[in-house]
Amino acid sequence: MPEPPGAVVVGGGLAGCEAAWQVARAGFEVVLYEMRPGTATEAHRTGLLAELVCSNSLKSVETTNAHGLLKEELRRLGSLLLAVAAENAVPAGKALAVDREGFARRATEIIESDRHIRLVRREVAELPDLQRTVCILASGPLTSARLHRSLDSLLGEHSLYFYDAISPIVSADSLDPDSCFAQGRWGHGDDYLNCPLDEELYRRFVAELVAADKVEARDFESARFFQGCLPVEEIAASGPLSLAYGPLKPVGLADPATGRRPFAVLQLRRENASGTMYNLVGCQTRLRQAEQRRVFGLIPALAQAAYLRYGSVHRNTFLNLPRVGSPVLEIAGKPNLLVAGQITGVEGYVESIGTGLLAGINAVRKLKGLGPAAPPRQTMLGALVAYVHGADPEGFQPMNANFGLLPPLDGPKTGRERRKEAFAARALEALDEFRDTCVRELFS
Ligand SMILES: Cc1cc2nc3c(=O)[nH]c(=O)nc-3n(C[C@H](O)[C@H](O)[C@H](O)COP(=O)(O)OP(=O)(O)OC[C@H]3O[C@@H](n4cnc5c(N)ncnc54)[C@H](O)[C@@H]3O)c2cc1C
Repeated sequence: MPEPPGAVVVGGGLAGCEAAWQVARAGFEVVLYEMRPGTATEAHRTGLLAELVCSNSLKSVETTNAHGLLKEELRRLGSLLLAVAAENAVPAGKALAVDREGFARRATEIIESDRHIRLVRREVAELPDLQRTVCILASGPLTSARLHRSLDSLLGEHSLYFYDAISPIVSADSLDPDSCFAQGRWGHGDDYLNCPLDEELYRRFVAELVAADKVEARDFESARFFQGCLPVEEIAASGPLSLAYGPLKPVGLADPATGRRPFAVLQLRRENASGTMYNLVGCQTRLRQAEQRRVFGLIPALAQAAYLRYGSVHRNTFLNLPRVGSPVLEIAGKPNLLVAGQITGVEGYVESIGTGLLAGINAVRKLKGLGPAAPPRQTMLGALVAYVHGADPEGFQPMNANFGLLPPLDGPKTGRERRKEAFAARALEALDEFRDTCVRELFS
């Protein structure tokens, strides 16, 4: 336990290292627990902190790309790990890719040598006494089973998941409106967009789904698909009509173009209140990203779809933050418990670093007796955090940075590239103001 005032951070991954360093740079004491190398996860290979478990890319550096914009925001907020990534960059065109070992080694050195951080190599089975200390939970998608069990009893049923089965999300403005129709089943409203398939297209779609190139499941992921979230290609493989009687069933729908029920229907459900993003209902998938574009692109409404998030299926511990969270990155009724990283329901390296940074900032604010702060919704970090707190708790699934999360722009419609430039300019202006009013004072 740190001598008060101070914080405990659970998990020395991307979010935990970033959060711990932010608290330490404000001069507070931190105890950082990391269970590796004594207790392994299924994906980490070393005992180094901030290990990248898969790709060595932190994605685009261009601010007209959602990940590039998020990185620029984090850089302006003083992110440790983005500085370490820049130091260890390898050539990768318009992406920031790093020397994986150099990156993790340097992050480990910095954390180990920080005079305010005590690194304890031990598995945490229960959270520390939250009356006595601020705690940042950053144990990641592969949170140990013992900690998972104790979080379950602390936070209650339906608050924590260990698996995600994600359907793709596409941007509303990339859909062909002439190839789909708005209608709810049995005449209930018009909340869904429906993409009709005739029998010939349906059979081709099923054949391509089954034959498509898929990401192989890792050993630890292969076992347990819940019946309710089987990958769409597995359902398709179980019989030629399984989709038509399952996620693509047309019952209760009539195509206004023909007045008849289509052979099958792929439904699109609004993903956010402003209607800028649509989710392909029931299409959780292991297809490779290019294959998702190709196979779902057979459906005319989706032929030019821009993917804001691709589908995936994998082991992932994450909280239902819309149900149990309290802005910002706190747990309702537990004001000393902050959460960071993939466990918050964000998805991705940079998103994990970003929530780590924000949890670190808010831990510092708590320790200084200040209220929590959130970046404005116009910023990518603010929009992401607003999403994981404000999404519909029913069927909540993780989210990565994307432009569909941002509030729409004012003014006349322009081309896609111009819009991205405008989103980025607005975000960075809002971010600078947030930094100058809520962050800078903490570290001076
Ligand atoms: C297999 C896999 C591959 C992924 N590939 C990518 C990718 O290519 N690109 C991408 O952008 N995102 C990827 N992600 C998603 C995500 O970005 C990474 O998992 C990221 O590392 C999450 O950061 P984090 O800090 O939340 O968790 P982590 O970086 O995993 O850090 C959590 C740390 O907590 C430790 N820990 C767990 N339980 C305990 C405990 N009880 N006590 C003490 N320590 C504990 C772990 O050992 C780990 O070091 C992947 C996720 C998985 C599971």
